[in-house]
Amino acid sequence: MDQKRIVCIGLGPSNLALAIALTESQHERESDEWIFIEKNDAVRWHSDMLLEGSRLQISFLKDLVTLRNPTSFFTFINYLKSQGRLDYFINRGTFNASRREFMDYLNWVHQNLPAHLFQMSSTVESVSPIRGLDGIVEQVEVTGTSANGERFRRLADRLVVAVGGIPAVPDVFRKFRGGRLFHSSEFLTGLKTHCSDKQAHLRFGVVGSGQSAVEIIHYLSENYPLAQVHSIFRKSAYKPADNSPFVNEVFFPSATDFMYNMQNDNKRRLLLRDYWQTNYAAVEMDLLESLYEKLYASRVCGEERIHIHNYSEVDEMEEVNNRYKLGLSHVMTGEVSELELDVIVLATGYERTKLPAFLDPIASYINRSNDMFSISRDYRLQMTSSFNPRIYVQGMSQLTHGISDSLLSVLAMRSQEILESILQLNCEESGALHTEEVLS
Ligand SMILES: Cc1cc2nc3c(=O)[nH]c(=O)nc-3n(C[C@H](O)[C@H](O)[C@H](O)COP(=O)(O)OP(=O)(O)OC[C@H]3O[C@@H](n4cnc5c(N)ncnc54)[C@H](O)[C@@H]3O)c2cc1C
Repeated sequence: MDQKRIVCIGLGPSNLALAIALTESQHERESDEWIFIEKNDAVRWHSDMLLEGSRLQISFLKDLVTLRNPTSFFTFINYLKSQGRLDYFINRGTFNASRREFMDYLNWVHQNLPAHLFQMSSTVESVSPIRGLDGIVEQVEVTGTSANGERFRRLADRLVVAVGGIPAVPDVFRKFRGGRLFHSSEFLTGLKTHCSDKQAHLRFGVVGSGQSAVEIIHYLSENYPLAQVHSIFRKSAYKPADNSPFVNEVFFPSATDFMYNMQNDNKRRLLLRDYWQTNYAAVEMDLLESLYEKLYASRVCGEERIHIHNYSEVDEMEEVNNRYKLGLSHVMTGEVSELELDVIVLATGYERTKLPAFLDPIASYINRSNDMFSISRDYRLQMTSSFNPRIYVQGMSQLTHGISDSLLSVLAMRSQEILESILQLNCEESGALHTEEVLS
């Protein structure tokens, strides 16, 4: 069994930012104690939603490192320079990179970090407690399978879990998942597998009213010219994302302390609700305008292919003759209707309040109140006193750390905070805590 003291699970933007922070710290020489494990063979940043023309909804300056260290080798600007595109990028006069370019940047970062830090094509399946003679858990065993089918095992006393959200699937759709009903996180793969004939007269349903839903409606209407697209959502209308500058300050890293220090979940919930429309169930204005234009143009031609079912709740569903039959009710009037669809895409977002299943074997050591786990300011899961390893989580503490927690805005700073917490502990254990050194 391979022993690495610090195992980081997932290699999306969060743990990549941590890998940069580690290599830029004075503790880089200890990096052979670290390993980052990722199930894919490269960094695939929401690759099933890498739709043509889709853009980053954030300034490129909020890359993995600039807010912490603008002089870093790993800035987006240095990436552009290394690709020979810096002058072209500047010439575009915008702060928005395309999602494809951002994913390319993430892979450039990965390729320029020390290769020994990474174990790719490996899926973590379980984290189990290793107890000492006194019954106290001192380490965890991380096990999984690599793409070639080999099992791997690693012992660790620190974990950093950054595996993204779990696709949210409303109950009514759950038993139909797979086949021609898939989540937006499986969108391009689902189409390739189940809808390869782009000239087919398909009836698509898209559930949800956020950014992904509207991007998917655009994509389907353009790439399946003979298809009908039914957009189904409970709200009155698609709503624009609020990107205005005063509101946007909620994404400043300093907002994390404000949220955390409130120490009152009801007030925190109120605050989250107040800022919800900066990110959730909200759509970039130019995308909304372009959809409206598209709908209007189709009305002019009398060829309406996009159908909006607002105020609509899907109450029941069955599969009949290879088609899905949906029972809808109007949330205001209660009126019921039926809709038949060939393919359903759930743009219903992600669940971020559940821990990943691979942590189940240590679930009994996780402190919970009202069935909720709690996370300290330095992103550590609060564990019982008989469990000594430290489990850090990224992207699962929106309620305590604020709305940026699942986004890119705070990554550069958060990675440093987590690194300092881990390194501080290493120093304490070796009896040599030099605060300036740890924090530099
Ligand atoms: C379509 C889309 C667009 C977005 N656009 C933006 C945007 O423009 N701006 C913004 O701020 N935020 C955006 N977000 C939010 C997004 O959450 C963050 O951008 C970012 O991806 C969070 O990074 P992460 O590393 O925490 O998680 P992820 O990016 O989800 O990465 C998690 C990684 O963990 C790996 N993994 C999962 N399970 C295992 C396992 N068991 N073993 C090994 N590896 C595992 C996955 O393969 C993945 O690589 C977007 C989200 C989506 C879905």
